Amino acid sequence: MIIAVRCSMAKYTLPPLQYPYDALEPHISKEIMTLHHDKHHLAYVNGANAALDKLENARKNNFTGIDIRGIERDLSFHVSGHILHSIFWTNMKPNGGGKAGGKLADMINRDFGSFDMFKVQFSETAKNVEGIGWAILAYDPLSDQLLTFNIEKHNMQVGQNTIPILVLDVWEHAYYLQYKNDRGSYINAWWNVVNWDDAEKRLTKV
Ligand code: MN
Repeated sequence: MIIAVRCSMAKYTLPPLQYPYDALEPHISKEIMTLHHDKHHLAYVNGANAALDKLENARKNNFTGIDIRGIERDLSFHVSGHILHSIFWTNMKPNGGGKAGGKLADMINRDFGSFDMFKVQFSETAKNVEGIGWAILAYDPLSDQLLTFNIEKHNMQVGQNTIPILVLDVWEHAYYLQYKNDRGSYINAWWNVVNWDDAEKRLTKV
């Protein structure tokens, strides 16, 4: 039996930031944005590609002596990290903030009661992430509604097949250089850089 081995898997690449590193100041410092994008996000891209290389190699060796569970754990972590960071950068913009508009505003009002109530719920989600992780607002196509999740790491406690609309990184690398251990102040400041047009666009694409 001849088993085809795909020789070269599609690789992930780091998307450039669409605004200058200091554009979100004073809310998020240039130093944080530079390290976060150029070092941390890049590490997830490289990690995802390294896991793909390992899978390619595993197939060539017919999985002999291969820890596929470990490789796939790495893949899940790094791909999720890559995707969440890619969304995070576009979910923010200089002079952002304010309120959601259009279809997103309608759905927030319908599913959370009001924009202010959504903001409270999302902030609570973010504040209460245990250790490292994310707060996300996601769309669930099955129930046709918006849900919030606290994600541990990049890939634990994810609602399967939900679509991220708005994501907030609460790993310490996202705020510690500027806010120290005061995650709450970082979250409050972050609302001033939210790009609601981008979030709205993500919702209308689904
Ligand atoms: Mn991060």
